[in-house]
Amino acid sequence: MAGRRAVLDFSRLVSFYERLESTTKRLEMRDILVELFRECEPDEAGKIAYLTLGELYPAHVGIELGMAEKLAIRALRLVTGVDEQRIEEMLRKTGDLGLVAEQLLSSRRAQTTLSLEELTVERVYSQLEKIARFSGEGAMEMKVKALSGLLAQASPKEAKYLIRLVTGKMRLGVADMTIIDALASMSGGGKEEIERAYNLCSDIGLVASKVKAEGVKGASSIGMRLGVPVRPMLAERLTSAEEILEKLGNNGYAEYKYDGERMQIHKFDSEIIIFSRRQENITSQFPDVVEMCRRGIKARTAIVECEAVAYDPDTGDMLPFQELMHRRRKYDIEKAAQLYPVSLFFFDALYIDGEPLIDLPLLERRERLARILEVSDNFMLTEGVVVSDPETLDKFMLRAVEAGCEGVMVKDISPKSIYRAGARGWLWIKYKRSYVSKLTDTLDLVVVGAFYGKGKRSGRIGTLLMAAYDDEADVFKTVCKVGTGFKDEDLEHLTRTLTPMAMSQKPARVESIMEPDIWVRPEMVLEIVGDEITLSPIHTCGWGVLAKDAGLAVRFPRFTGRYREDKSPEDATTVKEIIEMYKSQLKTIVGGEESEPT
Ligand code: ATP
Repeated sequence: MAGRRAVLDFSRLVSFYERLESTTKRLEMRDILVELFRECEPDEAGKIAYLTLGELYPAHVGIELGMAEKLAIRALRLVTGVDEQRIEEMLRKTGDLGLVAEQLLSSRRAQTTLSLEELTVERVYSQLEKIARFSGEGAMEMKVKALSGLLAQASPKEAKYLIRLVTGKMRLGVADMTIIDALASMSGGGKEEIERAYNLCSDIGLVASKVKAEGVKGASSIGMRLGVPVRPMLAERLTSAEEILEKLGNNGYAEYKYDGERMQIHKFDSEIIIFSRRQENITSQFPDVVEMCRRGIKARTAIVECEAVAYDPDTGDMLPFQELMHRRRKYDIEKAAQLYPVSLFFFDALYIDGEPLIDLPLLERRERLARILEVSDNFMLTEGVVVSDPETLDKFMLRAVEAGCEGVMVKDISPKSIYRAGARGWLWIKYKRSYVSKLTDTLDLVVVGAFYGKGKRSGRIGTLLMAAYDDEADVFKTVCKVGTGFKDEDLEHLTRTLTPMAMSQKPARVESIMEPDIWVRPEMVLEIVGDEITLSPIHTCGWGVLAKDAGLAVRFPRFTGRYREDKSPEDATTVKEIIEMYKSQLKTIVGGEESEPT
């Protein structure tokens, strides 16, 4: 292809788009794409792959089309002379500014006799790049001008797709996998190699141009690259320990399944890039993670994966996933990092110091990972254990839930347990907590112990050990630790009132497996809300009633701010009520994520 210029006309591409739009059948789409790719040059194939998906670049580049409709309307006014109000009215009727552009340009064409130079794919792509990249002062004007320049040269049909492209509404119904199928079909096979290349580079344009230029061989030459996200390995799901172990040949590696955000971290020298599960570059939102990785990853170059989990800086407890949403912002990033710090739990290594690791078995990758991590309180490997029987797996599951996790991941550890990028398969199986029920009511629980705080709360009480009342045995049985929902005044008040009530030994009427920093006579009642009730290996409420060697716990408990001074400890929520709540709410969970215990 050396020396040959890419010359596919945009009108030709548009004729393929019209055909694609007229079918919903995947196989037909694939065949149309095969024809299209046959007609173009390698360089064009890449651009066409992006445009067909309504994109200009792979997600990690972070530059998107998506011009505001208002601006596109201004460009249409410039080209057609029709005023903006009229265009908006037409838009309201059709709901598709592309169609409006087609209509407007059809009537304009009828009136003009201009002979225009044909638009090429090359020119359209480079103009769209400019439009997407203009930023700063005067950017809006420049975008409008560049778009009107293109529209002035376009036929009505071309205008339809140009408008859909710039406004981010291409929606041809073509998926990245359809393009991969088409590329494989064009090359007479090699789908696996092409898919693997795509999973390693997350760049459909690169794959398309390589396959067009060199066939499947071109795809095989694409490998992992630092700074380019690898599409993540995904898990299948099962609902019982027996099924999971059977699937894994009675041998697997169970890990806590942390409830946070997946991060793929690329380190080269002191540079750190963080990619999200969807291959977006999210580095700027997590300056704290960058710093932690710069210090904690001892390799010179690495691609590793972890789950980032929000935690309460005052108690050290893990917080639900929703708390991480506070970190997705454009402003006050440093402040958010302090208010909502994260812990990192690493679970895989794909590449270390020049060596790709994805074809090694899991435990070997994990060992390599362990060697390069400088572990600290909030920077560590996932908690994990080899399991070969359902009882051990279920026990581990309870521990995971107790620690604030949503379940466990059980992974294949046979010699074939590679890192399969971009694929969902049985090498990883998620096992989410199933013995849970949604908690809608508040609970009134009795303080039976307290823990001193960490960080700015050190020296003061930060977390309370709470119990429900067992009215048959006349004792208090623990059901959760609560450290969330307290204002500074609350903690001062609690420290002042509870310290005199402190006892050196566990009070006679308290049953607890946990040992708090101080024991407290059961007197004070607080109102608590939680997300749900789960089985727990460390709380004594309902011990042995629903499962052998387990009690019940409130998951993600929070203080509502209400001191139930009107209640005596014997008026607190009873163990029986919590068991009933658990059972009755369990029945209301139909289908979905959760399932009933078997
Ligand atoms: P999926 O990622 O499977 O499409 P999803 O986004 O809904 O589904 P989950 O079903 O919650 O996520 O489970 C998979 C996710 O769990 C992983 O993508 C990862 O972010 C997270 N995770 C937490 N702990 C681990 C672990 N120990 N090993 C692998 N992944 C983990």
